[in-house]
Amino acid sequence: MSPIKLVVLAILFYIAYRLLTSGKKKDKAENLSASTEQDSAPVADVLVEDPVCRKLVPKQQAVRLQHKEKIVYFCSEACCDRFVSQEGEKV
Ligand SMILES: [Zn+2]
Repeated sequence: MSPIKLVVLAILFYIAYRLLTSGKKKDKAENLSASTEQDSAPVADVLVEDPVCRKLVPKQQAVRLQHKEKIVYFCSEACCDRFVSQEGEKV
């Protein structure tokens, strides 16, 4: 066997190895991105969107409003009041 063939075989093995491990690596990358997202938010909490100002608020700190059998979250009482008055006008 010539040295060139050995190099080609080595490259093929490397590619096969990369293909076999790429699935696992992808999972790890997803886990990493998920953990970095948690790191950016100091509170391990779910972020909810304020429908009035589109701000993302941690669920625990958000102002809650029961609205049409579902709970709506706001960054502040002011946004909550604004939402209530807007919805009142619509209906
Ligand atoms: Zn708001």
